[in-house]
Amino acid sequence: MDLLESLVRIAWLIGAAGFVFGLMRMNSPATARNGNLISAGGMALAVGGTLVLLAVTTNPDSPHPGLPIAGWVIILAGIAFGGGLGLYTARTVKMTAMPQLVSLFNAVGGGAAALIAIDDYLRLAAPLCAGCIIPATQGIQGIPLEVSIPTVLDIVIGGITFTGSLLASGKLMGIISGKPIKVPGGQLVTAGLALIVAVAAIYLWAGNVSVPVLFVIIAASLIFGITMVLPIGGADMPVVISLLNSFTGTAVAMAGFVLGNDVLIIAGALVGASGAILTKLMADAMNRSVLNIMIGGFGGGEGTVSAGGPEGGTVRAIGMDDAAIQLAYATNVIIVPGYGLAVAQAQHAVRELAELLEKRGVNVSYAIHPVAGRMPGHMNVLLAEANVPYPQLREMDDINPEFERADVALVVGANDVTNPAARRAGTPVSGMPILDVDHAKSIIVIKRSMGRGYAGIDNELYVNPKTGMLFTDAKQGLADLVAAVKAL
Ligand code: NDP
Repeated sequence: MDLLESLVRIAWLIGAAGFVFGLMRMNSPATARNGNLISAGGMALAVGGTLVLLAVTTNPDSPHPGLPIAGWVIILAGIAFGGGLGLYTARTVKMTAMPQLVSLFNAVGGGAAALIAIDDYLRLAAPLCAGCIIPATQGIQGIPLEVSIPTVLDIVIGGITFTGSLLASGKLMGIISGKPIKVPGGQLVTAGLALIVAVAAIYLWAGNVSVPVLFVIIAASLIFGITMVLPIGGADMPVVISLLNSFTGTAVAMAGFVLGNDVLIIAGALVGASGAILTKLMADAMNRSVLNIMIGGFGGGEGTVSAGGPEGGTVRAIGMDDAAIQLAYATNVIIVPGYGLAVAQAQHAVRELAELLEKRGVNVSYAIHPVAGRMPGHMNVLLAEANVPYPQLREMDDINPEFERADVALVVGANDVTNPAARRAGTPVSGMPILDVDHAKSIIVIKRSMGRGYAGIDNELYVNPKTGMLFTDAKQGLADLVAAVKAL
């Protein structure tokens, strides 16, 4: 290893340390932007170091000794096209479309990692026997196990992530039906594909060199990604996307082993581990297992409407002026934002109402449920975008004891995360931690109808005698409330 290569390896390590430090700073909305910049700086350093190495390398063992001009054109065109497209989509994406964009990024990440392994395998197999099968028994020096294990794992995980993520994104965009789609042959087909991949992988790990068998693994992994995601409903997609994100990281780490690149191993391991933790947290916050989500078929889905509201109570509709008076003359108001607020893009309207109330001397805070909305951190990001002060955003465990002291809980487009049925056994939301909205002295719920939430069940909160239903679109309703409070 010459001096330059050593310096580049040090730059890679500094870049990797940047990822870890950046990830730590993403823990809080106040430092998240800065954390993102630090991680991006680490990536720029890693890419820059690699380009320097490619430009001046004299190492004959390098995969690309003396990179030709055509190689530079491809690399620079790739950076310009991919980077430009990434920058454009990330800057123009709507907050509600974030899960599908993350899924598209997962697809390209997993696909790129798989391509690295395929390229490496073809390069190693070519001098041995281009395109044919060399059984291990022929005694030819095959591809060493420490290379073939990460290569095959990279192709399998990257392949599954590529098609699975594209499909998940298509479901969320509405290009493909969001409903669970049954695969002909069901789980037998998925199990059969898994078996093909396992047998083919063991064949290669046994010392055999075979490009056709490698292509069998590629095809089976790509089809597996499709059959795995098709039966899962659109509403569960964020959890699936988080799982596929974890797969992307694992595939990238495997690509790092294939190339002997430390920074890829560290970056991949970080993404793999954080994606896995996030998947588990989301599943726990919905009180479901990851396996239950992957098998699919939960709830009736958002939008289904109950026949006449929850049994054993009447629903009380209130008017705009009534709601405005309750809010304007309260001492403590807790706002509970949910998926409906995100869909209606009502984050700026809710901040305007909160500011108006505060000017009148009302204490306002926001109760944030971990799975309010359709992706983790959805509410924090939306409200931060509307410049809601961070200290007003209170996490569930922190704010729950305060509902008893709240004069009004204002629920905006949140449903399941407020349903007291979660405290009883035998309902689809049983055991899901909820916001204790029903402990407030008075409750106002803004939503358009008696339509159900994602879990597809009635909300007992709506027949609570303390609850007044304000049937309107979240954005319009909040704007009307602002006008009504101003008129008081
Ligand atoms: P819900 O899906 O339970 O309810 C949203 C409510 O918003 C609906 O009942 C709907 O009622 C209302 N709504 C829709 N559009 C509008 C609008 N324009 N104006 C006003 N209201 C509107 O949302 P929650 O946030 O309470 O709960 C999230 C659910 O998503 C949970 O069940 C959670 O488990 C699940 N989930 C969350 C994930 C996460 O990471 N955050 C991941 C996967 C699932 P109406 O039609 O009557 O207006």
